[in-house]
Amino acid sequence: MGRRAATTDTAPAVAAAPSIRPAVLRRRLLAWFDAERRELPWRATRDPWAILVSEFMLQQTTVSAALPYYERFLQRWPTAADLARAQTDELLSAWAGLGYYSRARNLHAAAGIVAESGALPGDSTGLRKLPGVGRYTAAAVASIAYDEPVAAVDGNVERVVSRLFAIDGPLDRAAVRASIAAAAQSLLDARRPGDFNQAMMELGATVCRPRSPRCPQCPVRGQCAGFALGDPQRFPAPKSRPAPVDVLRAAALVCRGDAVLLRRREHAPNAGFFELPEVQLPAGGAAQPTSVPVAKLRRLLVAHLHEAHGLQVALGQELPLARHTITRHRIRTLPLRGRLLRGRVRDPLSWAVLSPELPVTTSSRRIITAALEASP
Ligand code: SF4
Repeated sequence: MGRRAATTDTAPAVAAAPSIRPAVLRRRLLAWFDAERRELPWRATRDPWAILVSEFMLQQTTVSAALPYYERFLQRWPTAADLARAQTDELLSAWAGLGYYSRARNLHAAAGIVAESGALPGDSTGLRKLPGVGRYTAAAVASIAYDEPVAAVDGNVERVVSRLFAIDGPLDRAAVRASIAAAAQSLLDARRPGDFNQAMMELGATVCRPRSPRCPQCPVRGQCAGFALGDPQRFPAPKSRPAPVDVLRAAALVCRGDAVLLRRREHAPNAGFFELPEVQLPAGGAAQPTSVPVAKLRRLLVAHLHEAHGLQVALGQELPLARHTITRHRIRTLPLRGRLLRGRVRDPLSWAVLSPELPVTTSSRRIITAALEASP
């Protein structure tokens, strides 16, 4: 994931602390990893395609959430050529629940490129040319599958390195991130780069945790400047957080027998997914996070269905407000039951029966499921 780079930037301060002996750190870290590492299915393979799939799934997702998907996914599409032949709907259904569907689309596009060329690129520079593959993912795959000596620096590793070297400054400063990347590369064990990268990630995930690092159990505490300074949690400095934005929407729940009127999304996020037709209150209209201007939302939704889709819909019962959060957007959606009075249902709208296979956005699925369960 890209982070904002500062426009004016100076080198971050590095607090005075014992200097790291990289050879000692490598030896201790790898011995710990060999003894303590979690057995994960993607650690039992050197197949670059399988490792790439695991890295896509693990972006923004925990290991426990990705685990059930990984094996099912590779059983269904064991190679890039298999995935390249898949329909988008099949892929989105298989990905449903993992979130961040742009990853699935990028993986699909990458599979097409790899299938056409006959093999995955053989180094991190080539891998970075694939859609959705950034510096970290390319380094992780190349070091694990090809033993390329390149440091893979994800959020966990940034935290560990900032503590090991006591690098001051927030991670949204380009100079801080550059210092951390250089420090991570200087530590890398060139004989076992894949294991070293995974050991750093494992250390960050299980020992050097964000809020309460378990320093007494840490295999490299004797090499850690943050620990020596007595306050490792000070590193890295917190990023400045943007203020949350309140969003208010109304969604129409129009049924015909078992089918629901759904709209296919054309744009990210979740492009290709179905959702309830909905409308959003213009910016500023939802500034009061406790009030819901129901009459205004009804008028907007009726007008939207007519102007955008040529449908005349009578709105009825209000359903309980649904809430979800995407990045800094706190979204509230008022679902309203509706009845189609006039008009032809045309693309991007269609009637569809809700099923586990149908790719439907999580928020719309929740609203529909709750409404169906509440129906007499
Ligand atoms: Fe992290 Fe503590 Fe280990 Fe330093 S000693 S790397 S702060 S867990």
